[in-house]
Amino acid sequence: MVAKIIDGKELSKKILEDVKKKIQQNNQKPGLAIVLVGNNPASEIYVGLKEKKSKELGINCERYDLDELISEEELLNRVDELNQKKDIHGIVVQLPLPQHINDELVVNSVLPHKDVDGFTPVNQGNLVNDNNMLVPATARACIELIKSTGTEIKGKNAVIIGRSKIVGKPVFLLLLQENATATICHSKTKNIAKHTKNADILIAACGVPKLVKKDMVKEGAIVIDVGINRTDEGIVGDVDYENVKEVAGHITPVPGGVGPMTIALLLDNILQAMELHK
Ligand code: NAD
Repeated sequence: MVAKIIDGKELSKKILEDVKKKIQQNNQKPGLAIVLVGNNPASEIYVGLKEKKSKELGINCERYDLDELISEEELLNRVDELNQKKDIHGIVVQLPLPQHINDELVVNSVLPHKDVDGFTPVNQGNLVNDNNMLVPATARACIELIKSTGTEIKGKNAVIIGRSKIVGKPVFLLLLQENATATICHSKTKNIAKHTKNADILIAACGVPKLVKKDMVKEGAIVIDVGINRTDEGIVGDVDYENVKEVAGHITPVPGGVGPMTIALLLDNILQAMELHK
């Protein structure tokens, strides 16, 4: 079997067109503030991409490039100013923050209805309670990519590798909401292959280049690769793509899978945040 490629880039275009249309129909433009502290090269690329895409769609994007040495207190004050701004509907604090700043404290200071990343305790708690408000875009991306294959998620065995609060856990919760039987594997899981071999749906989000090998994958499985790893051979995912595609039924490439869908759904989250302001 050779897997069908799930084209995240193509799918993301449809979502972006939809978001653009909805913005055009609105009287007011959505406002997004992106806060970038310091000059982490990867963060600069991500922020540049989010800024470019949001402007293309007609979102008012305000970018705040702050000095690496900014104090935690000053950063909290800046976020609070954005919380108060009526024309800002969504706030993204680009992670990671410099070592001397407590990431969690700053992320949690974003008002829940402006938290378009879905990282605050209120939004995470809502997700646990099946009362979704703003859901992390990467987790939404995984679900949309699975659904695009036309496969029903209900009743399937889904295995997620990774338990981070930005990807692994929210994907797990969304899969439960879709009535999958979901399992999380992580860095302390013994014999990961025992779990993954049983997975109809396998989501790799561990940040370990090519961790998922061909012999760990069930024939015909849907494989979603969230990983973005910078290696000597360029950017690779958490899945050994070239070999795994010989056994999987569907597979996402890296790049061109989860990445573009994440950006598109982040922008969709801004529309949802705008609705919450009404
Ligand atoms: P993280 O470092 O916060 O979490 C990694 C998780 O993987 C942890 O829960 C850990 O227990 C688990 N893990 C680590 N090593 C493992 C191993 N050897 N076996 C099994 N589990 C292991 O990472 P994250 O923020 O969740 O991101 C994961 C990957 O996804 C990274 O490569 C990141 O760059 C990528 N990512 C991509 C997007 C996107 O838009 N495509 C978005 C977010 C993250």
